[in-house]
Amino acid sequence: MTDCGEDAKLEVKQASKEFKESENVAEKYSAMTGTKNSDVNMNVGELSAAFTAVPTHKSMKKQIQFANQEEKQEFSKFPTKTGRRSLSRSISQSSTDSYSSAASYTDSSDDETSPREKTQVNSKGSSDFCVKNIKQAEFGRREIEIAEQDMSALISLRKRAQGEKPLAGAKVVGCTHITAQTAVLIETLVALGAQCRWTACNIYSTQNEVAAALAESGVSVFAWKGESEDDFWWCIDRCVNVEGWQANMILDDGGDLTHWVYKKYPSVFKKVRGIVEESVTGVHRLYQLSKAGKLCVPAMNVNDSVTKQKFDNLYCCRESILDGLKRTTDVMFGGKQVVVCGYGEVGKGCCSALKALGAIVCVTEIDPICALQACMDGFKVVKLNEVVRQMDMVITCTGNKNVVTREHLDRMKNGCIVCNMGHSNTEIDVASLRTPELTWERVRSQVDHVIWPDGKRVILLAEGRLLNLSCSTVPSFVLSITATTQALALIELYNAPEGRYKQDVYLLPKKMDEYVASLHLPNFDAHLTELSDEQAKYMGLNKNGPFKPNYYRY
Ligand code: NAD
Repeated sequence: MTDCGEDAKLEVKQASKEFKESENVAEKYSAMTGTKNSDVNMNVGELSAAFTAVPTHKSMKKQIQFANQEEKQEFSKFPTKTGRRSLSRSISQSSTDSYSSAASYTDSSDDETSPREKTQVNSKGSSDFCVKNIKQAEFGRREIEIAEQDMSALISLRKRAQGEKPLAGAKVVGCTHITAQTAVLIETLVALGAQCRWTACNIYSTQNEVAAALAESGVSVFAWKGESEDDFWWCIDRCVNVEGWQANMILDDGGDLTHWVYKKYPSVFKKVRGIVEESVTGVHRLYQLSKAGKLCVPAMNVNDSVTKQKFDNLYCCRESILDGLKRTTDVMFGGKQVVVCGYGEVGKGCCSALKALGAIVCVTEIDPICALQACMDGFKVVKLNEVVRQMDMVITCTGNKNVVTREHLDRMKNGCIVCNMGHSNTEIDVASLRTPELTWERVRSQVDHVIWPDGKRVILLAEGRLLNLSCSTVPSFVLSITATTQALALIELYNAPEGRYKQDVYLLPKKMDEYVASLHLPNFDAHLTELSDEQAKYMGLNKNGPFKPNYYRY
């Protein structure tokens, strides 16, 4: 007890120290920007101050705690195909027919020739790219333009390009899903002065037409939907290994690119000014590298930014869970009995959407705090094996493994829909369904009926892989928040004076998190209240933020 108490005191002490440091930063920031917190329409020009006014990152540093030994993978271990995709914010391991079946109209051609064997040239005569079909560029451009309409914060960042270009001289090598939304990010980086070479972080997630549009606009992109494992690494290598061009920034989602540069091109790695990492996996790997004393460049952990975690995970899933279910099954939600496993950010989003359409939702949890939250939000907390027989839908969002076992699947009723919203395709024990007595019938893209000998059918979606990213679209607006955070992290690392960042993993300063949020407020015509001098003094806050200490949980 005493120990715990001491720990808690220490934590509070540390947190209040961090808060003080943030305050100093805020003062510095506001002095430079002259912005008021009521300035929701913050002048884009003021951004430059945000680039230069950053806190001492010691205070912002946060170590990820690993839940178990399994997670403590050595960064240096070559990631397995499964490991790589199951943990990153990437999609499925083998959603071979479609990343986003409804979203991407990608490639209906019968051309089976590997893009590696084709010689393609864009209209400017460049062949420094490798995509499925450059002729799809015009179609991809329309997709990008549609995404731009809901990504106004990134567009407003571009306006900076008319003046000073904060990424002039930056040579960014990127590895993300190549979708219309990431294309908006990439083109923003280009508008801000960066040269970009890009590859896909997942072999199934590329929208071919979008990759073509990027290649046509001059971005050296190496990606297509349905790459082989070998193609995947070949594409990464083509991005990095090019004569007369050396990357000085890395933007990664999953850590594979970082891993490749670290292992294969150590001299390039040493000269990189910074790494920006979005995913849980990639961040874990960076912390491991840092712990082992092998991280020789500063890195920014975007995954744990409030503007990522509290928006992407919650709102993206709240918006897309129903879409994924509807598109695949045409199910009606009203009155349906649904169990959602895990009441974290993703689970909360799913439950709220399902409840709103009249589903009767119950929750499973291992954590008493999240279980209590579920209770207070009006959901019954149950054990899966107590309710599984009655359920019409079973949805996993835990990030854990074997949450739905073969035993559960055996006990489900006829017509039960089973799907997963977590990263890993191990939440549902799909492998246990590959036994001779069960028949699999593919009834639609990403929809399998698994049939028991007595005729019972369980409807399995996306073979247990991330439902929303496999079977529906995800909202551009939410991705805009994450992408803006990524862009700012790149700008910050690229422009930071020598010594501001050491060879370690940092969180984006809270002031920047707040700035990303403020850039998105005009979309809602939101009007922030400004602290009076008296109130600011009373609260011990700078009027321009940050408004919360680092330990605040939102
Ligand atoms: P979280 O940690 O906030 O929530 C997960 C919850 O699951 C926790 O509350 C945990 O206690 C609970 N849990 C763990 N094991 C369990 C078990 N066996 N049974 C019941 N509950 C259990 O994480 P999150 O942000 O909600 O993310 C969940 C998963 O979704 C992760 O894998 C994450 O990477 C992924 N994710 C998906 C999307 C998407 O678009 N689909 C977006 C963001 C994150």
